[in-house]
Amino acid sequence: MSADQVIMAGGGIGGLGAALMLARKGVKVRVLERAPEFGEVGAGLQLAPNITRMLDEVGVLEKILPMSVQPRRLVFMNAQTGEMLTTLDLEDAKKRYGAPYIVLHRSDLLSALLEAAQAEENITLHTGHQVTGVEDQAGSVVVHCANGAEFTGQVLMGADGLHSVVRKEIVQDEPICSGYVAYRGAVPIEDVDRRASMDDVVVWMGPGMHLVQYPVRAGKLYNQVAVFRSQEYIDGKEDWGTPEELDRTYSGMCDAVRAAIPSLQRNNRWPMYDREPVQTWTKGRVSLLGDAAHAMLQYLAQGAGQSLLDGAALAETLSVLGDGEWTAEAVGAALSGYEDQRVAHAGAVQSTARVWGDIWHVDSHVPMILRDEVFRSRDVYDYKFVDWLYGPVQDAGTTSAAPEAAATPSAAPAGQPRTPAHA
Ligand SMILES: Cc1cc2nc3c(=O)[nH]c(=O)nc-3n(C[C@H](O)[C@H](O)[C@H](O)COP(=O)(O)OP(=O)(O)OC[C@H]3O[C@@H](n4cnc5c(N)ncnc54)[C@H](O)[C@@H]3O)c2cc1C
Repeated sequence: MSADQVIMAGGGIGGLGAALMLARKGVKVRVLERAPEFGEVGAGLQLAPNITRMLDEVGVLEKILPMSVQPRRLVFMNAQTGEMLTTLDLEDAKKRYGAPYIVLHRSDLLSALLEAAQAEENITLHTGHQVTGVEDQAGSVVVHCANGAEFTGQVLMGADGLHSVVRKEIVQDEPICSGYVAYRGAVPIEDVDRRASMDDVVVWMGPGMHLVQYPVRAGKLYNQVAVFRSQEYIDGKEDWGTPEELDRTYSGMCDAVRAAIPSLQRNNRWPMYDREPVQTWTKGRVSLLGDAAHAMLQYLAQGAGQSLLDGAALAETLSVLGDGEWTAEAVGAALSGYEDQRVAHAGAVQSTARVWGDIWHVDSHVPMILRDEVFRSRDVYDYKFVDWLYGPVQDAGTTSAAPEAAATPSAAPAGQPRTPAHA
C-alpha cells in the first residue's frame, strides 16, 4: 500500500485546513504547494458562526481568537447618502448560533493552520511543488509535479484554487469573470485617517460598487476592501479596473467613503471570478475542495469558510476507511458521502453570493429606493435571511429572534439561491 492515503494539491486555507482535519482523524496526508512558501495575501477575512463553530470543534478557534476581533455589529450603509440602513447584532447572533462572528488577518489564520499541520506526524508538507498532471490508475492515483517529483496516493484532493489544474480532470469549464475588481489590504490602524468604526464590520453599498471595512489583528490593523464594476472591462480594455477608474467610481460617494480611498492599498488588484455550481466534484479517486470545487464571489464572505467545511466533511467520510488498502468502491462511497454533505449547500452559497452582489450594486433609481426600504424596514433581530447559512440555531428562546426564524440549515439545490442578508 502507498504511504500516502491522501495527496492534497494546494496548501492554501482550504488545503491546509483539510489536511489538518484529516490528520486529526488518523488519515495520512501529503500537501503539495506550488509557492516557495505557504502564505496568504495581506488582507482580512470574515468567518461567520457556521465556520467558527466547526473550528472550535477541531481546536483551531482558540488559536486564532487572540489575533481576531469579534465585531459588535455588521452595519449596512448607503454609500452615496451615508445613511445607515440596517445592522446585524453579532453579539446576539453569537448566542443564537453558539459561536462568534470573527474577523482576522488571512495570514494569522494560515499561520495557525500551518503550525498545527507541522505538529501532526500524519502530514508531510512540501513547498515548491506545482502539480501539473494526474493519472487515476485502478488502485491508486499518481500525481506529477513541474519539478519532476511524482507521488502515489489513494485519493487526490484538488485544493488548488480558482484556476485549479485538478478540476480539469473532472469538470470542463472556465472561471467566469464578473467584470468587478477588488482593491484590498490591511494597513496599520494609525495610517487610516477616518475609520468607520473599530467595533463593527461596515458595508457601504452604492451603484456598481461597495466598500467593506473592519479591524483585524486584535485592532492593530484596519482592513478595507473596495470593489467596483469596471466600465473599462465592459469597453474591452486589456488593462481594466485601474486605480484611476477606482478614483472616478468612488468620487461620487459620500465623504466617509471617499475618505477611505487614500489609505487603500493600490499596488495589487483582484479581478473577481466565480464558477457555475456543478453537480459533482469527483471522478474516481480524484475530488475537489475549496475554490477549486466552488469558486464564489466574496459577497457572503464565505469562500474560505466553505473550504474549511469541506475539510471537516471530507475528514468524516474518508477516516472511516481505516488503515488498510482503500478499494475503488470504498473510496467511491466515501467521496460520495462527502459530496452529499457539501455539493448542494456550497452550490447554494455560490448562487446566493451572486444575487447578493446584484442587490448591493443596483444602479438605477427605483431598485435603489426599494433595496434601501427593504433594508431599513428589517427588524435587527430578524434572522430568517441568515439561519440557512449560520445555523443551526442553539436555543431560539435565548435571543430576540422570531420563533419562525429558528430553522436548521438546509442545502438548497444548486442554482436555487436563498434570500441573503449579509456580506
Ligand atoms: C476580495 C475577497 C474577499 C474575500 N473575503 C472572504 C471572507 O471574508 N471570508 C471568506 O471565508 N472568504 C473570503 N474570500 C474567499 C476566499 O479568499 C477564498 O474562497 C479562499 O481563499 C479559497 O481558499 P482555497 O484554499 O480553496 O484556494 P486558494 O486560497 O486559492 O489556495 C490555493 C493554493 O493552491 C496553490 N496552488 C495553485 N495551483 C497549484 C498547483 N498546480 N499545484 C500546487 N499548488 C497549487 C496556491 O499557490 C494556493 O496556495 C474572499 C475573496 C476575495 C477575492
